[in-house]
Amino acid sequence: MADKTTRIMCPKLTCRKILLVPSTSRGKTVRCRACGTTIRVPGPVAKAPAPAPDEASSTDAA
Ligand SMILES: [Zn+2]
Repeated sequence: MADKTTRIMCPKLTCRKILLVPSTSRGKTVRCRACGTTIRVPGPVAKAPAPAPDEASSTDAA
């Protein structure tokens, strides 16, 4: 299931706020609204890579 938002926790010990960031922010940095700390959003979880497209043999037998 593809989440539209990613939950990250503010690394600041005195904040620890859970931030909801859009999945499009993965790999980028967001700023905690509570304390202003810049947080790097972790990239997408390593999933199975997209399968190589099976090269369909042409049935164009002439
Ligand atoms: Zn914070």
